[in-house]
Amino acid sequence: MCAEIHGVQYLIFGLQTQILVIQHFMQIAQCQGRMFVIFLFLCIQTALCAACNVTIISRDDWGARAPNDHDHLHTPVTVALIHHTDRDHCTTKAACIQELQDMQNFHMNNQSHSDIMYNFMIGEDGNVYEGRGWNTVGGHMPYWNIVSLGIAVMGNFQRGPPNSAALGALQGLLACLVENHKLTPDYKLYGHRDVGHTNCPGNSFYDVIKTWSHYDTGKPVLPTKTPTRS
Ligand SMILES: [Zn+2]
Repeated sequence: MCAEIHGVQYLIFGLQTQILVIQHFMQIAQCQGRMFVIFLFLCIQTALCAACNVTIISRDDWGARAPNDHDHLHTPVTVALIHHTDRDHCTTKAACIQELQDMQNFHMNNQSHSDIMYNFMIGEDGNVYEGRGWNTVGGHMPYWNIVSLGIAVMGNFQRGPPNSAALGALQGLLACLVENHKLTPDYKLYGHRDVGHTNCPGNSFYDVIKTWSHYDTGKPVLPTKTPTRS
């Protein structure tokens, strides 16, 4: 007898819940065929499982160009490196998509990056946008790229922090990255300025992330891994 799908089951955080969801899908798959198995496979492969309480817009959905190159990121990493883009703010999905396309073109055409620089971008529309993503080395900070995930909120936050929608999305994304074993549970959070000569992510945004529990007040030490290009 086929089980019913109860949406609430998929909204609860936790590994045990994920196991229950997988078992649940397996039961459904036996009843309703291959489609659910494929869905489960995609869910695991892309880590877009519903355990994440955040909306992640895929590269396809924002019209990203294909990267020129990519290097595999060995996860989980121990550092989340926070940026602002120091470009336009956006508060609607349409405006954020336009800004992302412009930014990707700038990074690839003018700065000779292989792709948009960051692993994820966040708009003040409250959405997370996939950049290089979960499993690809970023191009946001030399030497740190291979040991961190680079997350940028879109805008300049020198004289005012990101809005609550963007900050909530960032916290949701960080929890999601831990949940999916892309960040270690004891990961360290830094602003770009902690590891480089820059005012990024802006004074006001920096003041916010310094209050978060994973922010590390010690002098950052680069975890040791063999550098690769970015
Ligand atoms: Zn930065």
